[in-house]
Amino acid sequence: MNVQPINYNIKFIRRKPLTSTTIEKSRSTVFKGLFDSTTPDLSQKFQYGLEALDEQSVFVVTSNEASSNMMLEIHADKIYIPVMKKYTLFIKKGDLKNMDELDSNFAIYKKGNKYYILSLAEHPLRKLLVDMPKEHYNKDNIVPSGNVRELNNGSIIHTGEMVWASSGEKEKFVFNTPKIFNPRNAEKYLNIKNIDNLQDFNKRTITALNTDYNAEKEIKGITFEDIGGLDDAIETLRKYVVRPINYPQVYQNIRLNKGILLYGPPRCGKTMLGKALANEVNAKYREYNANEFKSSTVGTSESNIRQVFKQAVADAPSITFIDEFDSIAKPRDGSSNARFDDPMVNQFLGCMSDLEKCAVPAFIIAATNMKKLIDPALLASGRFGLHIEVPMPDLTGLKQIFNIHARKQHIMNDVSVNELAQTMLENKFNGSDVAEMITDAFFNVLERLGLNKKMDNKTFTFSDLEKIALTRNDFIKAIQRITKQKI
Ligand code: ATP
Repeated sequence: MNVQPINYNIKFIRRKPLTSTTIEKSRSTVFKGLFDSTTPDLSQKFQYGLEALDEQSVFVVTSNEASSNMMLEIHADKIYIPVMKKYTLFIKKGDLKNMDELDSNFAIYKKGNKYYILSLAEHPLRKLLVDMPKEHYNKDNIVPSGNVRELNNGSIIHTGEMVWASSGEKEKFVFNTPKIFNPRNAEKYLNIKNIDNLQDFNKRTITALNTDYNAEKEIKGITFEDIGGLDDAIETLRKYVVRPINYPQVYQNIRLNKGILLYGPPRCGKTMLGKALANEVNAKYREYNANEFKSSTVGTSESNIRQVFKQAVADAPSITFIDEFDSIAKPRDGSSNARFDDPMVNQFLGCMSDLEKCAVPAFIIAATNMKKLIDPALLASGRFGLHIEVPMPDLTGLKQIFNIHARKQHIMNDVSVNELAQTMLENKFNGSDVAEMITDAFFNVLERLGLNKKMDNKTFTFSDLEKIALTRNDFIKAIQRITKQKI
């Protein structure tokens, strides 16, 4: 591997060029390495750490290794890669000119082409600030301990206590995306630890990764065209999600509703709507069942929820579908009292309000069959404030769903869709029943034409395929069977 010329990644941002006198007079803090002859200096070592990051290592910058290790273990679930190696840049006393040690420790890791910083600050006041050059102070740029932010090329990492007071120059790490992958310098100049020692760390990371993997669902092909009888719901989604994602310029000064509740009886198309929506806007789709978040270990349920939101932001544009939302958010006593004391409800509230504040197109769709059971606090505006009903199909809806699912079937002239829809309506068919009825009718044809036997005897020919056509009777029989099963 070629070792490329070194780019400084830690820079002292100064207004005037430094001379030996200005250095001595200034109250500014600079890294000792920038003006002594030690090679490599801290800037170079920081660069080496970044260059060593593959998708299986983490780079920690710390003045207190014990503390950062502890914080890293606590927040292991915030790192979305299986960590095999930890590189540590240890900032010793005296390495910094004006301070004894870094105010806040942090870790950097890489996933795909993106780099993320995790704040490992132990004391709540010792906050990390990540902004861009010339950006005015913005409290949203503070990264509280245990939180993760994406790093952009040129991001400035401030590690000073009370950074928002901007009292003079503080240490600033300037993040520039490394141009090469080269772990050799890091191996030589940084501390390396095999992460096997941190058993729990890896276990939790991998569990989190598995959860994510399962959440990704196959949605190819499903569009709004495949959904029948839900024109109002689709129009609402177009209005609040599709157009804002497709035309962000139009909506840039509008605070969008990022939390949407789909409610209605089972099997009427809520999940289909979520998937089709993701396809319509070309967004990443993940699906969870709210029961998955629950854990008997203290704090884990909340952390699972945080992870889901973090993933949604990282994936943006994204649609995150949470089924059976009522299972986490229902009042314990069955009343409609708000549960501000429930840690999971509170975590959802917090995550939703963070999501509302950020401009990324990440939408959370919660689905329920029992809207009444959901904590009212979660349904307020700014949380899951947009409620869309996904009702039982009416006559027109049933006809539409029938036509969608039967579009690839050969149907005889004696079939009246109107008559079938009327019968289905009387028997309270939902969308899924309609789909099942068509499958059943198809099986009835095979039986009626003796094609099952032919297949068993291996006398089935391609000319038999052409005989398959569904008659009124095949459908009526199917409706009867499904109706019987429903009772
Ligand atoms: P649940 O509340 O049980 O999670 P759901 O409302 O999310 O159910 P879906 O999973 O979207 O229901 O629907 C189940 C299946 O029923 C779909 O895969 C589809 O085949 C059919 N279906 C339901 N509703 C519709 C509809 N409105 N249009 C077309 N197909 C539908």
